[in-house]
Amino acid sequence: MKVFEGRTIVLLSKHNKEAVMQPLLESQTGCHFVVEKRFDTDKLGTFTREIQRKKSQLETARQKIKMGIKLSKAQLAIASEGSFGSHPLAPIPWNLEIVLLYDKNEDFEIFGIYEGADTNFDHLVTQDWQEALDFARKIGFPDHWLILRPENEKGKPVYKDIFDVTRFEEAFLHCAKKSSSGNVFIETDMRAHANPTRMKNIGTATQNLIEKLHNFCPICGAYGFMITDVIKGLPCEMCSIPSDLTLKYVYRCYKCKHTVEQLHPKGTTASAQYCHYCNP
Ligand SMILES: [Zn+2]
Ligand SMILES: [Zn+2]
Repeated sequence: MKVFEGRTIVLLSKHNKEAVMQPLLESQTGCHFVVEKRFDTDKLGTFTREIQRKKSQLETARQKIKMGIKLSKAQLAIASEGSFGSHPLAPIPWNLEIVLLYDKNEDFEIFGIYEGADTNFDHLVTQDWQEALDFARKIGFPDHWLILRPENEKGKPVYKDIFDVTRFEEAFLHCAKKSSSGNVFIETDMRAHANPTRMKNIGTATQNLIEKLHNFCPICGAYGFMITDVIKGLPCEMCSIPSDLTLKYVYRCYKCKHTVEQLHPKGTTASAQYCHYCNP
């Protein structure tokens, strides 16, 4: 029997995320997948800054789950929430996708992630149509859609749903006319249905979630037996003083509370370069 055989999972989405999530979840967990579109998820924040996301990525996903359960009466809900920016240490674009699942019967939450540089997240300010076309080609237009504004990232009106060259040129000319400097602000559309690369990353995060679901507690058999704690203190190879590197993982069953410790998941000693004593 599959892990969610006979159970319904609800997804609150208006950006067609079910296109990638539904087949993965139905085939591998046996669930019945339903999409709830009665709530406008853009109210919780948009990538285009008209509505700022007020809460963290995880909190926003939790809000969507709550709303999905309320509207559908399903006991299982799933939500996806993405963020885009720069890599924490380098000037490369970065995408973090979270796919969160909540089981109301068990009051249990678990998530899968995708984290990486596979994104076209970018923008351009220009007065030059040829430059605009080159940018569009670079980011994968027209499969990946664009958003345009006059002047800068706050300019209005916002031209969305730009998915062919005719619309693109029309919007570009409108924006240039409305802009006092002549500048047009062009950016990649990060909504899932407008961005196949993001859609693929949501699929990767969903698959990551499904893999976590399929770890079962060795005592009671509950799904989602996972790492709940990472304990630091791997001893230095030179002086044996505990470092900040991982000493062990702790797995814990949400249902029967059984725990398993996995010692030395990344080696038995820390290189002296991570030691506060040998390499302060
Ligand atoms: Zn258990
Ligand atoms: Zn040392």
